[in-house]
Amino acid sequence: MLTAASAATGMILPTGMASAQAAPAAPLPAHGGNAGYYRFRVGDISATVLSDGLIGGPSRVYASNAPEAELQDVLRRAFLPTDRMTLNLNTLLIETNGKRVLLEAGAGQTMGPQGGRIFENLAAIGLRPEDIDVVVVSHTHPDHVGNLRTAEGGKAFPRAAVFAPRADWDLFVRNVPDLSYMPVPEDFRRNFAAAIKRSVEPVTNGIELYEAGAEIVTGLTTLPAFGHTPGMANFLVQSGNDQLLLTADLAYHPIVNIDRPWLPGPDRDKDAALASRRRIFDMAAADRLLVLGFHYPFPGLGRMLKTDAGYAWVPINWQF
Ligand SMILES: [Zn+2]
Repeated sequence: MLTAASAATGMILPTGMASAQAAPAAPLPAHGGNAGYYRFRVGDISATVLSDGLIGGPSRVYASNAPEAELQDVLRRAFLPTDRMTLNLNTLLIETNGKRVLLEAGAGQTMGPQGGRIFENLAAIGLRPEDIDVVVVSHTHPDHVGNLRTAEGGKAFPRAAVFAPRADWDLFVRNVPDLSYMPVPEDFRRNFAAAIKRSVEPVTNGIELYEAGAEIVTGLTTLPAFGHTPGMANFLVQSGNDQLLLTADLAYHPIVNIDRPWLPGPDRDKDAALASRRRIFDMAAADRLLVLGFHYPFPGLGRMLKTDAGYAWVPINWQF
């Protein structure tokens, strides 16, 4: 249900355009041919954003307390559809000290048909799933763990040690979570909870549970960012004087959760999530950190400004 597929195809080819042509236009290639990876460096660490594709859903889900007219206006002024929002899935590969570490596994097909592209983007940079040594997830929502399982039920990254936050594992994997706080239909909640258990099942044996604050490998530290889920972490990648902050799901889309202070509907504890957002956004702004947003427009890199009204998102310029 939370997929932008139908909305997106409707937007790409206006009906007027199609009917003006004598013959139907050739269908767009399934994979539009655009880049799905973006390379940069953090000091001595090689970093690559690997897109897992897109998910999406009703705008209201991502801006739960926005006044309706204001939400419509903000989306219209950003030239976005007003009824649905599309979100990216920006996983990050870091290569450091001979290890390849994937930050977030991505959604796969757990939240709609436009996820699961991480494997073709890995292949595009010459890597196979078995080349990944470590996978670290910020929290256990399906769009962050979906790719841990192959279609056949095996480990998608067969050699990787998988790290997940302990508090999330306790709530979503070891128990039956009460998801009544999520502003989505009951069958969506059921599928969401089932997708988590199904996705992590192949890695349950040997799972490495961490407490936010722990260092996972040299140069990669986790930071507490609780609220969206009980265990959600942010990631700080450091080498020399260079730093990169990954904000996981503190915000879904800069337009509604940074430039405007609206609260994501799926935040389980909205007060704690708001406190985490302010604490980490303040740090990002004060230290002028390079930031990667998992769900921001690809490649999801930019910086956070503190403004009189709150914050503003400033995307980086593309570099070749
Ligand atoms: Zn997410």
